[in-house]
Amino acid sequence: MPVAGSVVLDLSALNRILEIRVEDRLARVQAGVILEDLETAAQRVGLMVGHDPWSRPIATVGGAVSTNGVGYLAGKYGPMGAQVLGLEAVMADGTVMRTRAVPRPAGPDLKALLIGAEGTLGVITEVAVRLFPQPERRIIRAYRFRGFRHGFEAICALIACGLQPALLDFEEEETTPIPTATLYLGFEGPVEETEAAARRADQMLRAAGALDLGDQVAREFWDTRHESTYRYLNWAASRSPDGWIQWTVARTRYLDVSLPVSAVLRFYDELQVRAPEWGIVARNASVWCLPEFFSVILEATRPDADLEAATDAVLRLAQALQGSMESCHGIGVRLAHLVAEEFGAGLMVLRRIKQALDPAGILNPGKLGL
Ligand SMILES: Cc1cc2nc3c(=O)[nH]c(=O)nc-3n(C[C@H](O)[C@H](O)[C@H](O)COP(=O)(O)OP(=O)(O)OC[C@H]3O[C@@H](n4cnc5c(N)ncnc54)[C@H](O)[C@@H]3O)c2cc1C
Repeated sequence: MPVAGSVVLDLSALNRILEIRVEDRLARVQAGVILEDLETAAQRVGLMVGHDPWSRPIATVGGAVSTNGVGYLAGKYGPMGAQVLGLEAVMADGTVMRTRAVPRPAGPDLKALLIGAEGTLGVITEVAVRLFPQPERRIIRAYRFRGFRHGFEAICALIACGLQPALLDFEEEETTPIPTATLYLGFEGPVEETEAAARRADQMLRAAGALDLGDQVAREFWDTRHESTYRYLNWAASRSPDGWIQWTVARTRYLDVSLPVSAVLRFYDELQVRAPEWGIVARNASVWCLPEFFSVILEATRPDADLEAATDAVLRLAQALQGSMESCHGIGVRLAHLVAEEFGAGLMVLRRIKQALDPAGILNPGKLGL
């Protein structure tokens, strides 16, 4: 959200896919192009975009780069920033900077200044996005575990033996008396490689005691993965009260932290132990894409619960465990009060860069604590 008194730049008219170069596996697009439209255009020429967030039907390329978003397939293709070959940006003084669209340009990586910067250092106007060949084979399986710990340990064993799932979506469910947890696991690429990886993973997960939920469950998960965004879109368009969304905003916080693998179970355990003292319950613990990306929903259980204070305490706990407070949705203004802990001395470096590039502080004031 913009701060009060600011001018909003609407980039929705920058919506042209300028070219798709099949041989170079590259799309040159304006920043306001919707990810779904880019995906459709890439599919037409036998390619695909590696960034596939829940919000694919609504998010723009510029927004995804500026938040360095994470999508379903980030385990294989990386976050959005990893898929940027080059970009054009308008800096605060009007300078137009264009970086070379090759995998390893000479010198410091200037495009990295804009990736994840949430619009504080420049306005991205064009992006050269890396495209990927459509996989010859995609295999998605679903497995059930006896709770978060059981599944998490099995996932770590998979990764430790060198398997690289394209899709990894693992979430605890509220079953009683003991919660269960479901893993959606996908591999994709050349036929032989994909089948071998899926077979090896299947053997390891079954040996660890996982229950195979069958192909249909897995397929349904994949086919409906953007549904929550269509629901959000309908709500936003109609402005009609949607009980679920209103309740979600008022009573819950959805946190995505990034932790060293070795700290994930400790973080999980501490949340369960300390949640009652904060007047909350920590629900739907999950890891997404990589075992390091841990998400959880905090839900207020008492009318007097201070959700903001609980959120801060949880994010500080992630930082104290050598993790990062946010891996997906950006810092914005909402988490700006936590950047001193997050960046340490790096905050001073960031502020000097901001001062040099945007001395009047006109670009997204307040975001990232700048
Ligand atoms: C239902 C739903 C599901 C979501 N799922 C995911 C998900 O799976 N993964 C994920 O990573 N995120 C997700 N998000 C968050 C959000 O969709 C992403 O962060 C998305 O990439 C933002 O794109 P946007 O075009 O909406 O950007 P905006 O929200 O408009 O902007 C995001 C930030 O980037 C800045 N910005 C936008 N465009 C530019 C530009 N051209 N130049 C410079 N700065 C710019 C803005 O000022 C702002 O600070 C979800 C959001 C919703 C509502």
